[in-house]
Amino acid sequence: MKKILMIGTGGTIASEMTPEGLTPEITSEQLLKNIPRIAEICQVDCQQLYSLDSTNLTPEHWLGVAEAIYRRYDDYDGFVISHGTDTMAYTAAALSYLIQDSSKPIILTGAQKPIWFDSTDSKRNLTDAFLYAVNGCGGVQIVFNGKVILGTRARKTHTKSFQAFSSINYPCLAVLQDEFLMQYIRCDCGKKPIFSHKLNSNVGLLKIIPGIRRELVQFMVDHYDGLIIESFGVGGLPEYEGTDFYGILERGIQAGKLIVMTTQVPNEGSDLGVYHVGYQLKKSLHILEAYDMTTEAVVAKLMWILAQTRDFHAAEKLFYTPVAHDILYRPVEKGSAAGTVS
Ligand code: ASP
Repeated sequence: MKKILMIGTGGTIASEMTPEGLTPEITSEQLLKNIPRIAEICQVDCQQLYSLDSTNLTPEHWLGVAEAIYRRYDDYDGFVISHGTDTMAYTAAALSYLIQDSSKPIILTGAQKPIWFDSTDSKRNLTDAFLYAVNGCGGVQIVFNGKVILGTRARKTHTKSFQAFSSINYPCLAVLQDEFLMQYIRCDCGKKPIFSHKLNSNVGLLKIIPGIRRELVQFMVDHYDGLIIESFGVGGLPEYEGTDFYGILERGIQAGKLIVMTTQVPNEGSDLGVYHVGYQLKKSLHILEAYDMTTEAVVAKLMWILAQTRDFHAAEKLFYTPVAHDILYRPVEKGSAAGTVS
């Protein structure tokens, strides 16, 4: 029988009702007692790392989860992390950079309703997560409502319904229905894992709105080592009078800031060079572009990169090198024909 380590972090799945609302208090062992079926699937050990609403998780906690897996990697065949849904996509993305090329499944799951609710999704999600940890592919993935989503491609797209997560700009890897696994895409398995132990969390995200004020953009550029700008459509920045966003970014880049342009549109990604409002930024500034990456993945990748280098060209190389299929599009390199990678 395979051995799986369950790492508890909190979330709705582990929450009790208190006078102040749902609060994570149930341990991983207590969760498992509600689902005897899991003991027939694998042998489980539990480590209760945190009991937190995932709203309260920070990059320090992501490092804590990665460290827990690092320390016990050789002792287990796979890992199941129970986690709140609100920031699960960020944790999944972060773990995808902190633990690369894992041949063992590292599965995040949670629920929209606590385990003691009559209509809970906890039991299905946990059972599916353990089934996938035993039978599925290596690498970081989310198992939720019967879908298996790559850790670098997940986003919470529904606040209440059981279908909480979507796979963005990439297909689901597998589905689980009545304990039957249909594995559509197999990830690369069998390599030795590469662990990273550092992140630079001084990364900011700015969602622009029509009429955004220059002081806000200036503040964000000044205060972060890495700034992600979620602009409109395929990408661009306003050029109306009194803004000079181009100049603010130019001076920030000269001061060593890493700036990534992405889009606030959920699907199909950015293409900054298309319109006048993006063309000059792309052509003449050292700016990175997210293309088809999720914002969650860009946040985590930037933290991972900035922990290694502040040099633009080194960062650019790391940024456009695919990790766990986080980016499909890649700028055409001189002398090469293709603009995409598989
Ligand atoms: N607020 C909860 C959390 O993220 C929501 C959930 O788990 O569904 O921890």
